[in-house]
Amino acid sequence: MRAINHSTHILSAKVIQQGVLLAVALSGCLTSSGLAENASSPTPYIARLGEAPDWTQLDPLQETISREEFVYLLRHCYAHAPEDYTDTILIQPDRALILKQSNFPDAGWYELRFKNSNHLSSTPAKFWRTPVEMPDLPVNSSKPLEGIRIAVDPGHIGGKWVTWDDRHFKVGRDTLSVNEGEMTLKVAKILERDLTLLGAEVMLTRTSTNPVTSERIETLQDEAVEYLKQRKIVPSSGLIASTAKKMFAISSEIRSRGDLVNDTLQPDLALCLHFNASPATSRRPSFRSPNHLHLLINGCYSKGEIAEDDTRFEMIMRILQRVYYEELDLSDEISRTMKKETRLPSFHYDGTNGMAVNDNDLVWARNLLANRVFFCPVVFFEPYCMNHREIHGRVQEGEYAGLREINGIYRKNIYQEYADGITAGLVNYYRKVR
Ligand SMILES: [Zn+2]
Repeated sequence: MRAINHSTHILSAKVIQQGVLLAVALSGCLTSSGLAENASSPTPYIARLGEAPDWTQLDPLQETISREEFVYLLRHCYAHAPEDYTDTILIQPDRALILKQSNFPDAGWYELRFKNSNHLSSTPAKFWRTPVEMPDLPVNSSKPLEGIRIAVDPGHIGGKWVTWDDRHFKVGRDTLSVNEGEMTLKVAKILERDLTLLGAEVMLTRTSTNPVTSERIETLQDEAVEYLKQRKIVPSSGLIASTAKKMFAISSEIRSRGDLVNDTLQPDLALCLHFNASPATSRRPSFRSPNHLHLLINGCYSKGEIAEDDTRFEMIMRILQRVYYEELDLSDEISRTMKKETRLPSFHYDGTNGMAVNDNDLVWARNLLANRVFFCPVVFFEPYCMNHREIHGRVQEGEYAGLREINGIYRKNIYQEYADGITAGLVNYYRKVR
């Protein structure tokens, strides 16, 4: 399940899965009612609002990766388990065969030839630069981020759209609502100011509480019906409505930001800002424990995700661009300064939709839409649980200057603290590697 690390989305996934089971049970009826696609050329199986990939876009990347490195990255970070890709990716001695359309083997296999080990390693085509590809930093420079292009993506939308993505939390009548899309924007604006002072070129994917996408729920009704039919789910009015809502607030919004990042901003790295939340067990909002922190890199694709033609293509593209190394090194470094600033314990995945790639328990691999479709290293932040009592209290305090005592500790306002954790990590990282 893509989208964001939130209970509401996980709940929606379960609803969809139940729909699949129902559809399987009723498959005879589906066929006779004409809902099933023509078996000779089915509609490609793709992610929500995704497009069938053009496999020839991998042509310039032929013979740029060795068999050993390809298999290492696939197994170590990208596939949740080796059996998750064996239906769609065949590893041969000198090439990988990648099924072009998972529900239609007659469309054939894309042949990705491995680099001959006698050849020098080659740099794949990409718009982002690794630190060694950036100009050297003058000794004792006061601007350690000089010339680095950083996209900052404030997660969600907020404002009048706050109820559309279900990322808000309000307890009591006379309290401020905790709205993720507005909080991430506050952090993004602090980062824009502070990282710019350190020499970076900072670009925000949004600067207001308005959607980046021009689509709306009303304009996505047909796409919602098509998506459900493609997954052999009976398109009831309730499911069409909930699918179109997710298509607007998550899929279309994030894909629009992806287009902006890939086609216009073309940064060296992207920072995706979020606040986490603990799963709520009832409709009535209440405080939950514990409070925690983690960072995500892209990886841990499930069998169902790898079966999506566009998702499989994007995974292969990330492997060929060697995004993993930069993403992990950045996340590793920033996780340390984030931990120091936030004083939060780590969050642990149970291994189903997130997995460890090293011994840092603050960094996990997970396949989310933003960290898959932004074609550069992406560090995805999930600090602070919004429905934790202390975080709710800190949001009520607002963006105060200086320090205030919170539970016996003098602390910065939560937005500055979040931003400072990132800034310090970036400075440490680039001082080391440039
Ligand atoms: Zn979020």
